[in-house]
Amino acid sequence: MTTLDDLPLRDELVGQQPYGAPQLHVPVELNVNENTHGLPPAAVEDIARSLADVVRGLNRYPDREFTELREALAAYLGHGLTADRMWAANGSNEVLQQVLQAFGGPGRTLLSFTPTYSMYPLLAAGTQTGWIPVPRADDFTVDPDAAVRAVREHDPDLIFLCRPNNPTGTGMPLEVVEAVVDACRGVVVVDEAYQEFSDPGTASALELLDGRPRLAVSRTMSKAFAFAGVRLGYLAADPAFVDALRLVRLPYHLSALTQAAALAALRHSDEMLANVDRIRGQRDRIAARLGELGFDPHPSQSNFVCFGGVRDTTAVFDRLLGQGIIIRDNGIPHTMRVTAGTETETTAFLRAMAELAPEQALGRHRVD
Ligand SMILES: *Cc1c(COP(=O)(O)O)cnc(C)c1O
Repeated sequence: MTTLDDLPLRDELVGQQPYGAPQLHVPVELNVNENTHGLPPAAVEDIARSLADVVRGLNRYPDREFTELREALAAYLGHGLTADRMWAANGSNEVLQQVLQAFGGPGRTLLSFTPTYSMYPLLAAGTQTGWIPVPRADDFTVDPDAAVRAVREHDPDLIFLCRPNNPTGTGMPLEVVEAVVDACRGVVVVDEAYQEFSDPGTASALELLDGRPRLAVSRTMSKAFAFAGVRLGYLAADPAFVDALRLVRLPYHLSALTQAAALAALRHSDEMLANVDRIRGQRDRIAARLGELGFDPHPSQSNFVCFGGVRDTTAVFDRLLGQGIIIRDNGIPHTMRVTAGTETETTAFLRAMAELAPEQALGRHRVD
């Protein structure tokens, strides 16, 4: 049998693992931060109608510049944005890859504050960009002075700021973003995949875009928008930044079906986002209960809770899976991540954790 070792793979990919959140179908799936509520029926109907209209024209390539979608995304974000400052691709992962293709590459580096989104080092490797992980503080925040020192020391070509941060849920004041952009000569992307779940009134880094042409803010329809299956991520930046991404995108990268589905969903954005408050409520319920049970939940501004104080994460993962519940074990010692689901899903998870707590909870702020 042929294995990878028999093929002339690029050196930097040898020994690497593909992005690997398990895709197991069980009754309670709380492992990849999806919105677990279904789509609103009116949106489903409109999307289906829009797709049917497009199917007749699928013999032709789609609008390469997806202008109508960019206009709709700009209107959705507000902040005075216009279509020429918007970009989109098949998930914000592809957007971030295009940023690295345009601004990274051999001899260039990407800096981020870790633990953070596990795709960043993989996207760096795939574009032959050097990866510089800078550790966060013990509470997973990023101290502005330490961040500026790290930026000056490493002088990276790119910085990705995950805000709120995955997998820890930690927010980041805009002052930290400003300080990092000012200290960096390269490109800074603020990954706001979870922005809609932040406390009401939390400012978006979109507010900082004017006058900062090296700054970009990425968003996705995969999380709050309950549209992970469509693969639509997007970015707001200076028109010149968008022009750079146009140099590396594949022609017609956004299919006519994707464009039509996203446009239809955006017409129903209020309904699509209707469960965000409910999800935030379940998130806070999870954090409170896990704390009572003797685990160590971290404050979260997103739709998931990162919790420490777990004696054996593999045992907890397996025991939950045995009960039809999947959460995430992403390699931080004694720490796990769970997505806030519906009330019923959350109840199932918390009941199972209550049973496990006597043997698995180490108490708050202890990792022995
Ligand atoms: C889920 C996630 C994304 C979104 O990925 P898509 O490709 O848009 O589905 C981006 N950044 C972070 C930090 C995420 O957790």
